[in-house]
Amino acid sequence: MMNKKDITMNPTSIPHRIDYHHAELGDFFDKNRISPGKPQSLKHRQLEKFLQKFAAEYPKDFKLEKLGGSVEDRSIYHVTMGHGPRTIMMWSQMHGNEPTATNAIVDIFNFLLTARESEFVREILDGATIHFIPMLNPDGSEVFLRRNAQGLDLNRDARELASPEARILKGIYDRLKPEFGLNLHDMNGRRTIEVTNKLIAIALLVPPYDENKNNNPARIDAKRLASVMQQALSPYIYEHISRYDADYMPSSFGDNFQSWGMRTVLLETGGWYQDGPEFLVKLNFIAILEACHAIATESYQHANPGLYDALPLYDKELFDLMIKRAKILDGSNPEPFSCDLGVNFIESVQNGKIVHNGVFTDIGDMRNFTAKQEIDGSELLVLPGLIGLLPPDCTDRILDDSLIQDYMKRGYTTLLVEYDLQRNDRLKNKIEQLKKTALRINVGYVVSMDTLANIPLNEQATALGDALADGAIAVLEYENEAHEYHPLTEKIVNWLHMPRFKTKQIRANKNWVEMLQSYDTTKSAKHVLKKGILGRGRIRINDTADLVVFKLQEKKKKIDVSGPEYVFINGRMAYSRNENDTLVKAGLVIHR
Ligand SMILES: [Zn+2]
Repeated sequence: MMNKKDITMNPTSIPHRIDYHHAELGDFFDKNRISPGKPQSLKHRQLEKFLQKFAAEYPKDFKLEKLGGSVEDRSIYHVTMGHGPRTIMMWSQMHGNEPTATNAIVDIFNFLLTARESEFVREILDGATIHFIPMLNPDGSEVFLRRNAQGLDLNRDARELASPEARILKGIYDRLKPEFGLNLHDMNGRRTIEVTNKLIAIALLVPPYDENKNNNPARIDAKRLASVMQQALSPYIYEHISRYDADYMPSSFGDNFQSWGMRTVLLETGGWYQDGPEFLVKLNFIAILEACHAIATESYQHANPGLYDALPLYDKELFDLMIKRAKILDGSNPEPFSCDLGVNFIESVQNGKIVHNGVFTDIGDMRNFTAKQEIDGSELLVLPGLIGLLPPDCTDRILDDSLIQDYMKRGYTTLLVEYDLQRNDRLKNKIEQLKKTALRINVGYVVSMDTLANIPLNEQATALGDALADGAIAVLEYENEAHEYHPLTEKIVNWLHMPRFKTKQIRANKNWVEMLQSYDTTKSAKHVLKKGILGRGRIRINDTADLVVFKLQEKKKKIDVSGPEYVFINGRMAYSRNENDTLVKAGLVIHR
């Protein structure tokens, strides 16, 4: 049933002869990589440590210079390596959330320093002088945002020079006037190539120097260099390289450098499948080193600029996950409807950590689209995961696999746990503890309205305020509770903007699975499902992809009575009837 995308690392359709390919580069990277596993975890402080270590160990070969400071006064460095006549300048991460090339540069330093005796490295260092400016936007990198601390896009600041980072880049260019420039970026990791629908791993752009995208000898040289990089990458990702499409942008650096005479190539890193980030760093490592080698040895002059021109452009985006031709029953429509369901993992920063949360990105007829992971849904019935309340006597068993699996088999993807306001331990500590644990299911803490009302009036605001600050997500009213509270209690809940629910809004019918078992999929579904809350429990664009998937019996009218086939939590498969051992613990602590 699972139809994982077939990924071929050794495509069969590579041209019979490839220049600019040194297999030892890939081998070196695989054995000697020093940049961290996740590219985004390389922050300014760690980069600085690498630079200072190299400068101390190899003072002759690794010349480190501080060019100045960012808006928040993080140092921006310039590293010079090599002593040849050809000059190259490269800069990375002018967009803070584009870290792939900075990681590759750290590994390139390591390679050029430790493999100095190899012919390949000697030819680079004897033929060229390379100037590196890694992490041009350290403030943006620190918080994983595109722009600098002033909120400026540095790649639209080449004319105005309103940011210290742009002034630093322009300053070093004016001082060095290098012949070649490499402008290193990351782009949307879901773009595909026109016609073939292949995922783009690397896109190359030779920026134009005028509106009409004319060629002059310098731009043709840059195209030759792009063609070198394409050929260097072909053995790894032949069908996954595209030409980046961009109009002349008079405010961006690449276009200006090109017009000022530096032969500039922009490298955009796209996406990959499993193990993506590491592999993409390796591709950068290879493309940059082969480019430097081709410049240093002047072999780039034999590269055909037409190969760059012939690169395909990108087309639409693919999805991270798609359930194709599924029957969807979400309570909004009386009958299940048939469509494709696209889910993407959206990157965000939560408490300083980068998380990827799966959300519904598109619903409808998407037969022309593809996904990194595709599931054939033609015999599946897809329902939104249920949100349920964990009984008080089970609150300490939230990590108990057998209990949680039991809930999942009944269709739950989120469990709310009541936090007792009168207890002395802060909710914050509980949540911190849970965040460190790999959860199987989503967990959120709620406060009961009755418990709040039982606290002395003058302490209620503090107690609820603390719980809210600690991460409680809602106030809950049980069906059997009093529904009239002191006006001040009501006001406190309003003042703190606490979402407020009645248990019947979130509690699914107790015999939900039994109902489904006897449920005729051609009849009304409205009574089966309850409303979603907090962006969960529904199948809607931008809601979180928590799903329970049942197998339809042969005539597609009855549901397999023995429980769900799959459960997806935050877009990841967290339960499968058949492959329990390979599943991820995909749950999150939901908090405010
Ligand atoms: Zn960028």
